Amino acid sequence: MQRRFFLKTASTAAIAALATRKSWPVSAPRIAFGGIGIESSTYSHIRARMEDFTILRGDQATGDQRFAFLKKYSVPFMPTLVATAVPGGPIASETYAQIKAEFLERLKAFLPLDGLYLPMHGAMFVEGMQDAEGDWYESARKLVGPNCLMSASYDLHGNISKRVIDNLDMLSAFRTAPHIDREETMLRTTDMLVHCIEDKIRPTLMWASVPVLMPGERSSTEWNPGKRLWAQLPELNKTPGVLDVSMLVGYVWADEPRSAASVVITGTNPKNEKKIALNLATQYWGARKEFDFGTEVCTLEECVRKAMEAKTQPAILADSGDNPTGGGNGDQATVLETLLKAKAQNVVFAGIADRPATEAAYKAGVGASVPLSIGATLDPLASKPVKVQAKIVFLLDEKNPARREAVVQIDGVTLVLSAYRRPYHDIADFTRLGLQPKSFKIIVVKSGYLSPELAPIANPSLMALTDGAINQDIVHLPANRYRKPSYPFVPDLSFSPEVYISERSRS
Ligand SMILES: [Zn+2]
Repeated sequence: MQRRFFLKTASTAAIAALATRKSWPVSAPRIAFGGIGIESSTYSHIRARMEDFTILRGDQATGDQRFAFLKKYSVPFMPTLVATAVPGGPIASETYAQIKAEFLERLKAFLPLDGLYLPMHGAMFVEGMQDAEGDWYESARKLVGPNCLMSASYDLHGNISKRVIDNLDMLSAFRTAPHIDREETMLRTTDMLVHCIEDKIRPTLMWASVPVLMPGERSSTEWNPGKRLWAQLPELNKTPGVLDVSMLVGYVWADEPRSAASVVITGTNPKNEKKIALNLATQYWGARKEFDFGTEVCTLEECVRKAMEAKTQPAILADSGDNPTGGGNGDQATVLETLLKAKAQNVVFAGIADRPATEAAYKAGVGASVPLSIGATLDPLASKPVKVQAKIVFLLDEKNPARREAVVQIDGVTLVLSAYRRPYHDIADFTRLGLQPKSFKIIVVKSGYLSPELAPIANPSLMALTDGAINQDIVHLPANRYRKPSYPFVPDLSFSPEVYISERSRS
């Protein structure tokens, strides 16, 4: 069996065993890794700054659980830095410049390099800049030179550009949404890289852009057409001369020319790669009108009414426009206001990012009843606060004021306040605050499609089409200036797919 075929079909354990056995006869190749990952809504008024990023430097990156799989290779992956942040608004330009400068400085210290692995997201937006990932790769490429192979792992909501393709040699994106294949994707990316360095292959990277932009909530791989489209990828990946087949939804809340769906193929057989790229792009375009929400969607008022009237429980109501895992601010209190107005009972709402209200809760202490202004602290322009009388019921034992969380009771609503932007999508996010989500009639979360832990308990699941930085009513998004014509923004658009071959593959 050819090694290439083996790599595509083998289990993780088998690949690891092979990688460990492999010896490098002359001198071991030099591979570095590092990158930056954030999903940035250009419709958000807030900026991602240095304090919003978690930055793993040097050995911290190697020691992190996410990169434990790199130890399976006999060749060491030398760590630069890995910067990640909760999705949100654009990155402040000085923050991006600072992180990039440090990344390049650390990269420079490892030169010369045979390979560079870039764990990325793909939907980063930097103030005053278009195509931020393209900028990151181009800067890295200038430093590592033309002979170093660069391989990037992507979220399936990443956007692609010519500059991205021209600077990379390989790319692999998640094949699931919700994303449950992070490690497999990273492994595909690093397997390709190690394999190509070892066999001295410079693969051909191909890209077919598809002018379709769907929110993730309409393009999950859990239901059709996403399920059907992505299910083909593992089989297509077995085609001779194909190292990776990736298909990306793109990120709709970025007003950029590169925002679109994409098919990206890495391989050594351009003819086969082109055939697959055209085939998948044609299928994706053909399915554009099929994309739809996988759950019941309604206006906020309707969702609240349906949740209150439901004969089953817990009804899970998703505040979709303000979902921090998609780029929403997470600070809006509109749903809280509607629940209170409707006198909803037995509700847990997790949660609203509001540092002043969280601090006021800590100051008052458990058992106290205090007046609070809740919401709109991060972006006072996008929504309004709600004034309430709240009883403090729980305070997380946390010394750092920036990481604190409080639980307060307002009439029939048990509300979680957090000092920082964060999701509550896992059961443990509730239980660590002394809350049993299943014991409530209604659970409110800031989410789009529900997470793998919440979806199975939702009875029923209701997605409220709320306003926010990631409003699901995409065709009415304001400031749609830079995006190229795409469906559904241009409903009668005509399209026939074309393949773009990276500059490096042509040279
Ligand atoms: Zn994603």
